[in-house]
Amino acid sequence: MQESNQRLIVIAHRGASGYLPEHTLEAKALAYAMGADFLEQDCVLTADDVPVVLHDVHLDTVTNVASVYPGRHRDDGRFYAIDFMLAEIKTLRVTERINLKTGRQVFPGRFPAGQGRFEVPTLAEEIEMIQGLNRSSGKRIGIYPEIKQPAWHRAQGKDISRIVVNALHDYGYRSREDACFVQCFDPIEARRIREDLGCQLRIVQLIGENSWKEAASDYDAMRTSEGLRRVAEYAEGIGPALPQVISGVTVDRAAIVTPLVAAAHEQGLVVHPYTLRADDLPKWCNDFDSLLRMCYVDANVDGLFTDFPDRAARVRDAVVGER
Ligand code: CA
Repeated sequence: MQESNQRLIVIAHRGASGYLPEHTLEAKALAYAMGADFLEQDCVLTADDVPVVLHDVHLDTVTNVASVYPGRHRDDGRFYAIDFMLAEIKTLRVTERINLKTGRQVFPGRFPAGQGRFEVPTLAEEIEMIQGLNRSSGKRIGIYPEIKQPAWHRAQGKDISRIVVNALHDYGYRSREDACFVQCFDPIEARRIREDLGCQLRIVQLIGENSWKEAASDYDAMRTSEGLRRVAEYAEGIGPALPQVISGVTVDRAAIVTPLVAAAHEQGLVVHPYTLRADDLPKWCNDFDSLLRMCYVDANVDGLFTDFPDRAARVRDAVVGER
């Protein structure tokens, strides 16, 4: 059961997104070079059923879609990837993430919005780049695709899980020995991916807060021993939010660790919390390296999602060296 603790992993959240626009191939290549063990792909579908790597079902916070295709928004004013053919999405330029309300970039210290020339990658393009790098470097860096909003995709008439799982199979990711985790917030869908779609890849159940309305599920119940026991029926791990793992620090600045990691390990589940950002630290923390160390050492997590894979890899290597 403690197999999970033999290897601490670094998951590049949307690539090295602290340095280059998220989910661009450039950000993934950089994360690869920075020593990440897994590179994350958020997957959404185009109108012609192609999985593209994009965090939101919308295009407008990370591309110039509103100026290239004015009038192609829905009644809510948003531009949806699913309303565009891949060829159309390929004409867009990806930019650092923008807050639509303010028009400013979400992380002001990061790559300048509007600068550079980047495009939305397909899942296939990204896998081919990673597999190519694995060949040329002799490494075995993994992929970590997320099935985004499966219920919403289904309401639009599309079975995103089936399409993505088939794509993974086509690229040789088939068993739990392969360098791939499949993640999803929706527990009904995650179970379906294992039990109905026959996916034998390692599955990670993401855990949000009920207030986010990310999926029709009770994440409070999921974090109990009974809830985790049910997750372990179809998944190999959980991806909780960082505050669900470390809730703060004591007056002596020691991490206050919640019971979640131990309870998950009890069920044989690995724990990969999200998202560690040097430029968006929790209120109770002023040092990113300490936060990383608290996760790996005090909270005993098995890996973590970070926008800064170079920093996490350095701390992880130091921690492993001390063991
Ligand atoms: Ca994600």
